[in-house]
Amino acid sequence: VRRQDGRTTKTMAEPSTMVPVAVLQGFIAEIFTAAGCDAAEGKQVAHHLLSANLTGHDSHGVIRTPRYIQWLQEGKVRAGQSLTVVHDTPTHAIVDGNYGLGQTIGPLAVDLGIAKAREHGLAVIGLRNSGHIGRIGDWGERAAAQGLISIHFVNVQAGELVAPFGGVDRRFSTNPVCIGVPTKEGPIILDFATSLVAEGKVLVASNGGKPVPAGSLIEPDGQLSVDPRTLYGEIAGSHVRDSAKGAGALRAFGEHKGSGLAFMCEILAGCLTGGGTSGPIPGGKRSRIANGMLSIYLSPGSFGAAQFEDAAREYAGYVKASRPAEQGVEVLIPGEPESRIRAERLAKGIPLQPDTWAAICATARGLGLTPPAVAVPNG
Ligand code: NAD
Repeated sequence: VRRQDGRTTKTMAEPSTMVPVAVLQGFIAEIFTAAGCDAAEGKQVAHHLLSANLTGHDSHGVIRTPRYIQWLQEGKVRAGQSLTVVHDTPTHAIVDGNYGLGQTIGPLAVDLGIAKAREHGLAVIGLRNSGHIGRIGDWGERAAAQGLISIHFVNVQAGELVAPFGGVDRRFSTNPVCIGVPTKEGPIILDFATSLVAEGKVLVASNGGKPVPAGSLIEPDGQLSVDPRTLYGEIAGSHVRDSAKGAGALRAFGEHKGSGLAFMCEILAGCLTGGGTSGPIPGGKRSRIANGMLSIYLSPGSFGAAQFEDAAREYAGYVKASRPAEQGVEVLIPGEPESRIRAERLAKGIPLQPDTWAAICATARGLGLTPPAVAVPNG
């Protein structure tokens, strides 16, 4: 569209287009508010989706908006929910997220763990039936901000996508693990899916983004693949991807080791929380995607480790001082890539693929909203 000032305005971002953080955050909040959240919840969902984009995990960022809205409209997740405490002791609890939005339920479950661990030195919280809780690093950061170490094992009920080591049939979800450690210079956050890539990275690739690494997917006949169609079936234009339509699976990282970790996430986040595993066991086939999360919170001071944060930082410095394997490529510690990308994106904005932006705008229009124009200077 030619504007009066001679610049071109596009409602679709080019791959190199940076969408300012405040514009994107406001737009996403508006979409969720139009879909039934109150203003505070809309803002909180937008905050956590943007947090994933800001840390470079675009797979768990605003790209999820069309799918979350579809789930809200289908009643698979619900606005305005809170926790039901199913089992409670001073140090541990099982809580049910009532299929509320994960960006609402996640903070409530983490804050319960923080409160118990601050009082008793340690706590364990089993969360079940939560809407998608997105980037788990957010929860490690939330606990670290209160001076706590935290360990999170996550699964996705009805989210079978990953073949076990040696198999081709889907048996696990992408089952992330996160360990967060507080230090005075900022948290150290290890946070990754136990699949070779998170499903969202296949989603990003299917929208014209970065291709997934070799061997990320496996066809039913055992052939390795990088083609998003292995997971989603035929892909036409920008629409909500459906992993039920693909015949293949994601693969676990690290061969038998990653596959074993994924298995244990099902046991801890699925069986122990009572939410169920990603497959039909126990309880038959479910159609509703929900996260389970078993979280352990430790207060270093109550372990007599008064100098813990200094010791952790000192050790991180020692690790970083390893001579690089490749000239000029620095050794990084967990969480370092994310904090660097965050600083860069806060300053420059968030890059979005055209199809991602188009799908978000289509969702907004479906709710009666007008997407903000993204201005691309001529030339
Ligand atoms: P990834 O492969 O990018 O790994 C990220 C981790 O590796 C981070 O801790 C990062 O600091 C560290 N790291 C990256 N490069 C490094 C380097 N060069 N040196 C040292 N450390 C480095 O992450 P992923 O597996 O693609 O997961 C992406 C996100 O998806 C995570 O935030 C995860 O929580 C989320 N996820 C969520 C769900 C869910 O159901 N809610 C499911 C799967 C994944």
